[in-house]
Amino acid sequence: MAEELRIAMVGARGRMGRAVADVLAESDDARLALAVDREAGDGVLGLEALVISSADVDVAIDFTHASSAVDVFEACAGMPLVTGTTGLDEEGRAALEKLATVQPVVHAPNMSVGVNLLFHLAKVATELAGEGFDAEIVEMHHRHKTDAPSGTAARLAEVVSAAKELGPEAWRFGRSGQVGARTRDEIGVMTLRGGSVIGDHTLYLAGSDEVLELTHRAGSRSIFARGAVHAARWVRSRPPGLYSMSDVLGIS
Ligand code: NAD
Repeated sequence: MAEELRIAMVGARGRMGRAVADVLAESDDARLALAVDREAGDGVLGLEALVISSADVDVAIDFTHASSAVDVFEACAGMPLVTGTTGLDEEGRAALEKLATVQPVVHAPNMSVGVNLLFHLAKVATELAGEGFDAEIVEMHHRHKTDAPSGTAARLAEVVSAAKELGPEAWRFGRSGQVGARTRDEIGVMTLRGGSVIGDHTLYLAGSDEVLELTHRAGSRSIFARGAVHAARWVRSRPPGLYSMSDVLGIS
């Protein structure tokens, strides 16, 4: 039997940190070796524990906050990393890319199998639908989410605009007032916030007299947690590089 995978959870006290711990508690080939959070105590250690205990860890999983990204990525140097933290700014993105030159890193705005299938189907459907169909994206998340649009909606916008041979200048984040008629060269990306919604994403492809909707609804955070643990198993023995969830799942 393969050796048990020892995981360091960064952001252990958060919603995703707890979901990953639940998945690991039921796993027979992976376990929580180190729990790290900005708020230490009760068996959860501070970020510096990652550096001190790196020999006891095979892979780090990070679900924290974009504002901590540079510190977290520095502390994860030397161990394969799976990071699901969304809303990275330029500095965070640069730190991630630098880290990936020396070690394997999986970064995915959404770790669920279904959403990664949605990305693939969105690409195929947008290409096949062609110019006669307008693409619009709507996402909804719980009231506590602080970044917008969601990392998943942003990725969906990238996929759809690439399929339409458009760039980020095509994205319209909300419309208000006299914005004029919709042109073919725009993609709406709309954000809804409220309640306890874990994460809903819909791509509309609207043609003349017909609308195709591709929707993914997350039923619980465990889908992201399971995806992150799956990515941790996969990334352990990869060469340095920045990988996506499509790489992990083998979706071309
Ligand atoms: P949360 O606020 O519940 O938890 C974040 C945790 O990170 C907190 O316990 C906080 O104390 C800790 N933290 C922040 N800075 C830290 C630092 N410097 N060192 C150590 N710990 C630190 O948030 P959440 O709902 O668990 O989401 C976390 C992140 O994951 C967000 O960016 C969210 O958008 C993203 N997310 C990604 C996916 C995915 O599939 N990729 C799914 C859900 C959420």
